[in-house]
Amino acid sequence: MTKINYQKAEFILSAAQLKQLPTDEGNEVAIVGRSNAGKSSVLNQLTQNKSLARTSKTPGRTQLINIFSIDGHRLTDLPGYGFAKVPEAVKQKWQVLLDDYLRTRESLQGLILVMDIRHPMKDFDRKFLIWCEQCDLPVHILLNKSDKLSYNQQKSTLQDVADAVTPCPNGVTVQTFSALKSKGIDELRSRLDEWLSN
Ligand code: GDP
Repeated sequence: MTKINYQKAEFILSAAQLKQLPTDEGNEVAIVGRSNAGKSSVLNQLTQNKSLARTSKTPGRTQLINIFSIDGHRLTDLPGYGFAKVPEAVKQKWQVLLDDYLRTRESLQGLILVMDIRHPMKDFDRKFLIWCEQCDLPVHILLNKSDKLSYNQQKSTLQDVADAVTPCPNGVTVQTFSALKSKGIDELRSRLDEWLSN
């Protein structure tokens, strides 16, 4: 397995439709999370590159699929869900896009699902996990902001979430993470190495 240099990261493009995505070849990993779970902070920590997350947060790009290249591979930043104030029609359109992406993107090897460890497994997280199960896509869950909880609380949340996902046949793994304290980064990188250099 090759070790990937996550600092070799750059923005490729933003897509509103699947046909605008780069050619479906090689390996791709997607990252998702409810807004405020800390997805941008995770991206910053992973790549040591603040411009990536900034790009994704640029007004006009927040509801698009943002694609980055990472040392010759691709990382897809999926639009944050939980943007409560968007009209129902926009949400529906976005769900269709996401659904199409998960079902048809052949280069997609797995998904990183970022949750706030204090509020894990919210409705959309569960829905998302079911989606991935239906598409037979593996998921790696980051229980972010672990620094907000005591060690024992972290351990018990990790166990609860691990128990909840154990029956999933698509392969769901869980770890605690702190983007703030840079904790858990090696475990995240080795999961990504596995998927991207597959
Ligand atoms: P996004 O909306 O999911 O992209 O979330 P952001 O990365 O913008 O983070 C949302 C808020 O959570 C910000 O105030 C971050 O500083 C904070 N945050 C993100 N990661 C961590 C973490 O690991 N620990 C703590 N304590 N705060 C974090």
